[in-house]
Order: sequence, then C-alpha cells, then structure tokens
Amino acid sequence: MTTARIPQVPTNETPLRIVGATIIDGTGKEPLPNGEVVIIDGKIDYVGPRRDTTVEGATEVDLTGKTIMPGFFDVHVHMGMGIETGFATMAAQFAEERHYAAAETMRDTLMAGVTTIRDLGGLTPGFRNLVTKGKLLGPRAHLAISVISPTGGHVDFHLANGNQMVPMDEGFRIVDTDDEMRVAVRELIRTGADVIKVCTTGGVSSPSDTPHDLGVPAHQVGIAVEEGNRRQGQPVTAHAQGSAGILEAIHGGVASVEHGYEIDDEGIALMIEKGTYLVPTLSSALRVPDPKLVPPFLYAKKVVWSDIARKHVAKAIQAGVKVALGTDAGVCPHGTNLTELGHMVSLGMAPIDAITAGTLNAAKLMHVDDALGSLEQGKLADLVITDVDPLAEIDRLAEPSEIKVVIQGGRVVKDLDDAMPVARAHSALAS
Ligand SMILES: [Zn+2]
Repeated sequence: MTTARIPQVPTNETPLRIVGATIIDGTGKEPLPNGEVVIIDGKIDYVGPRRDTTVEGATEVDLTGKTIMPGFFDVHVHMGMGIETGFATMAAQFAEERHYAAAETMRDTLMAGVTTIRDLGGLTPGFRNLVTKGKLLGPRAHLAISVISPTGGHVDFHLANGNQMVPMDEGFRIVDTDDEMRVAVRELIRTGADVIKVCTTGGVSSPSDTPHDLGVPAHQVGIAVEEGNRRQGQPVTAHAQGSAGILEAIHGGVASVEHGYEIDDEGIALMIEKGTYLVPTLSSALRVPDPKLVPPFLYAKKVVWSDIARKHVAKAIQAGVKVALGTDAGVCPHGTNLTELGHMVSLGMAPIDAITAGTLNAAKLMHVDDALGSLEQGKLADLVITDVDPLAEIDRLAEPSEIKVVIQGGRVVKDLDDAMPVARAHSALAS
C-alpha cells in the first residue's frame, strides 16, 4: 500500500515537553499513567513513561490529572453543508456565504478535537490549501470533492418535475456509462481528489430513491478502483446503505463502506475477509431530525432507517468488522464530531476500541498511518488533551468544552483553560 499525500500544516519549532498526563496512544494499548510527550519540529520526539531528565530548550508543561490522546479523525464529513441551515436557506445562499460558513465549520471541527478529516463531497481543494498554508485553522483534509451516482440516484437532486431541490454544483456528479465513470474519476484526480466517492445505493436524503435502490454497479466501482490505482492509489469509498448495494460496493473493491446500515451476514463476512472498513456514521443514522427543517419524505425514511442501522451495525461491530470513525457531519450537526465515540460504545464497542476507530484505524483507512493516527515516535504531533477519563465517560468527549487543548503539527491551536501559557506564545492562537 502506498502512503497517500499527507496533508501538511505549519509547525511550531520550539520544543515542547508535556509530563504527568495519562497517555492513550491510539493503538488500542492500555492507558499509560504519568507519561511524557516531547514534540520537536512538529513531530513526536519521545512518548512513553515520564523520565527523570530535561529536554534542552523545551517549554515544559505539567499536565498531571489530564489525558492525552492523538488528534481525532472524522473520515466522513461535508464541511460545505449544514443541516442547521435547512434546504431552502442553502439554495438561497451566495457562493461567498457558503464558503465563509465552510471555513467556520472547519475551525469548529478542529476545536472539537478533530485534527484530520476526509470530506466526502462538497469541499473544494482551496480549503485544503488554506489549511496547509496556515491561512485557515482547520483539520488536515483529504477530499472526495464530488460524489458520484447515476441519474436518479443518490446525488441527483432533481425533483420529478425537473426542478433542483438543492443546486447541483461541483459536489454532485452524475455518471451512467462506464466511460463516464472513467472520465469522472480522471477529472476528479486532476482536480486533486484524495479519495473517490461513489454511491452504490440510494439514500435517505435523496428525493427519488431509497437505500434499497441500487446505484453504481460493482463493475463501475471496479473502474474507479482501477483508475485510482493508475495514479497515486486513491482509494474508493461507497455510500452504501441497503444490504444488496453494500455487497456491490465490497465486490467492486472499495476501501470502506459508508453507512452500511443494513449490512447482513454475507456483507460482514466479506468485509472481514477483504479488510474493508465500515464507517457507520451513527451520529447521522441515530439522529431523527427536526421535521420542520427537512422534507417529509426524508423524515419518514429517517425514522425507519435509524432502527435498521442500530440493529445491523451492532452486529457488524460484534463480529469484528474494522470500523473507522465518521459522522456524516453536514447531514448531522457540525462541531460535535466526537459524539460518534459514545454512539459506537452504545452499540457494543469497547471505549478503547472506539478511540482506535477514531485515530489509528481512520489513519490506516486514509493510508496516512505512517505519519498520523497514533502517538508514536516520529509521527506528526497532532494531539488532544482532556480532563475527562475517556474510558469511564466517553460521552463527555462529545462536548467541545471538554477538549481543553488541541495541538496540530506541534502548534497549540486550542487552549481553553490556559493549561499551556508558555506554549501559547508560539501558537496559532490569534488572541
Ligand atoms: Zn455523507
């Protein structure tokens, strides 16, 4: 497996030594009390038991009583969408209003403890570039740019009368033939896509289909995989909700199944055999929206599919399918991404495994685990610090105010209670 492009952020050159905190390193290992983390040039220079030495030139901070974890991942977000906005408002917005909202959403997501995202449709490469240049505070980002479905499929937002329910902009790509699939993937890669997103089923939010309807067939998923492999190995992921379309996605060779609400025994066995990741987006699945904000068809489908998801995803977790944390934020509220940890635990996952799903597993799915996803020597210094004991009260991590410190590339980008006053002077915090 080739390592994908690692989305970069500016780094802090002043060495930082954090001592005393409990370390949960993201690999699934037991927490290490009274630990030490040393960050030099934006990378982890040491992580392990607290030592009796000092580090030359380092700012030292004692965080006894707190817990350090890797920066979290959310591998299924839509920074360019906002459920709170409502469909009518979204349709009326100017491009600059949408872009400003997306920039704010990226900052909120980072403040929620998410230092890396995979945006599965709607976010354009300019946002990723601005984060890399330090002009915009936000997560490191891999982008799908557009979502691919057939005419009348999940991202065809034409109503029966031909009008568009939401503007059909660059986030949506209609593909019917094999050749169109090939061209679409080539164009997306040219535009800078890090991942290709196809829909092998219909969905809950689309007007003319359901999760049981089939979308992109397995052989066209295979074409997308083949095109990615001719380039930098961009992985393909599928929006797949009904059981038949989930099988199409897995047979086509996807790296991950998004949603997977109705995954059955055959799908579970195949995913385990092929090492396919499940991104169950429970924050979206288990949330029944305000009926005033969404169309009636969407509300009705959501009630039914929440129940299906609860039952089937629990079975997949139980069976040991690899899971990566993704929320579908944009379809559910932004800025509380770590709510997903509690949802996974509520369906039977151990808290330590939920943390791994949100860190190292997610990094592996994105092929960036050489540089990110766990607290290990040599990796980039993305980490979050909390007063909460995550294994005892994982639900509390959902609240952004419980994420006291966020460090990205060794830069302090959030420091709620002045835990790191000296480090702040070298930080990205404007005020
Ligand atoms: Zn989505």
